Amino acid sequence: MNFDERKARWAAEEQMLGELLEKHRLELELGPPSSAIPLGWRAIVDELFADLAALGCRKIVQIKSKFFELRVYLPDGATAEELARVEQAVERSCRTCERCGAPADRLEMQRGATLCSACAPASAASRS
Ligand SMILES: [Zn+2]
Repeated sequence: MNFDERKARWAAEEQMLGELLEKHRLELELGPPSSAIPLGWRAIVDELFADLAALGCRKIVQIKSKFFELRVYLPDGATAEELARVEQAVERSCRTCERCGAPADRLEMQRGATLCSACAPASAASRS
C-alpha cells in the first residue's frame, strides 16, 4: 500500500468513526489519529455504540485497533455492564476481517491484521 492509499484509508476511517459517533450521540475524548478503527469493523462498532448509548454512556475516551483487536477505553466510572459490552465487541473483532467484515481466521493476525482468507495476501493462502 503506498502513501496515498494509506492517507485515503485513514480519511475513510476517520469519516466512518465520525459518522458512528454522531449517529449514537457519543463524544470521543481522544479523536483521530489517536482513535481509529478499520472499516471492516463498522458493524461491530455501530452495535457497540448503540448499546453503550442505551446504557447511558455518553463518552468514550479512545477507540482503536491494537494487537489486532478492537480496543475501547471508557471514562472512569464506566459501569460493569458497559465494560462487559465492550469485551463482547473486542472478542468479536478478533474473528472479523478488518477490511471487509467477513469472518476471519485468527492465524492471519500474525501478518499484522485480522483478515479473512479472501483479504489475506496470496502468500498466506498458498501456505496451507
Ligand atoms: Zn476480508
